[in-house]
Amino acid sequence: RKPIVAIDGPAGAGKSTVSRQVAQRLDLLYLDTGAMYRALTWLVLESGVAIDDEPSIAELASQCEIELDAQPTPIEKQSRAINVSVNGQDVTQAIRSLEVTSKVSAIAAQPIVRNELVRQQRRYGKNGGIVIDGRDIGTYVFPDAELKLFLTASVQERARRRQQDLKNQGKDIISLDELEQAIYDRDLKDSTRALAPLRQAEDAIEIQTDNLSIAEVVDRIVQLYQE
Ligand code: C5P
Repeated sequence: RKPIVAIDGPAGAGKSTVSRQVAQRLDLLYLDTGAMYRALTWLVLESGVAIDDEPSIAELASQCEIELDAQPTPIEKQSRAINVSVNGQDVTQAIRSLEVTSKVSAIAAQPIVRNELVRQQRRYGKNGGIVIDGRDIGTYVFPDAELKLFLTASVQERARRRQQDLKNQGKDIISLDELEQAIYDRDLKDSTRALAPLRQAEDAIEIQTDNLSIAEVVDRIVQLYQE
């Protein structure tokens, strides 16, 4: 198969923006695995299933059809979110809501959910030629990926960036304290779950992004890929 680039890291470290640009520069596909967990979470909330009702959630996970646009997008169109649909319904915007964001980690921690979505991710990536971002790509989904990155930034910096995104999108502003708390909570849940927790793979290259622009991070990854 062709190479796989695995990009992991905590919430709000810029993984999806960076991954999408890297994919475009290298002419690779791009898979946002967080969007898959978000899409399932949206479906659970929409269906009125309780978030701790594991058997019902397992059934939703095994029967739902999540579609993501994996084609590289030209840089000038990257301000638009990647199209995501569940069972034919467009959820591109809905999966970014505060409600989905606050519930997704509890659902993503359920082993049956992970087994099902990881199976789909492995199928997407089986021929390689793809950038995949998430929490467990280098450690669990594709441990033999050719290039593994671990993107980090301080929680303060990640909250600041998130607040800037909200401003840019004309959405309600949330205080930095609240954003820090939400990011901290999500990282804690993601790194303490039983199956495939958020963790840096031993052979991943860490990129601390506090003082780097997106373009600098992208350039560094493209360079590493070409070495
Ligand atoms: O990347 P994003 O912030 O959209 O991910 C949303 C949530 O999905 C994460 O907080 C985590 O709970 C879950 N996730 C995961 N494994 C992945 C990607 C995301 O558990 N590979």
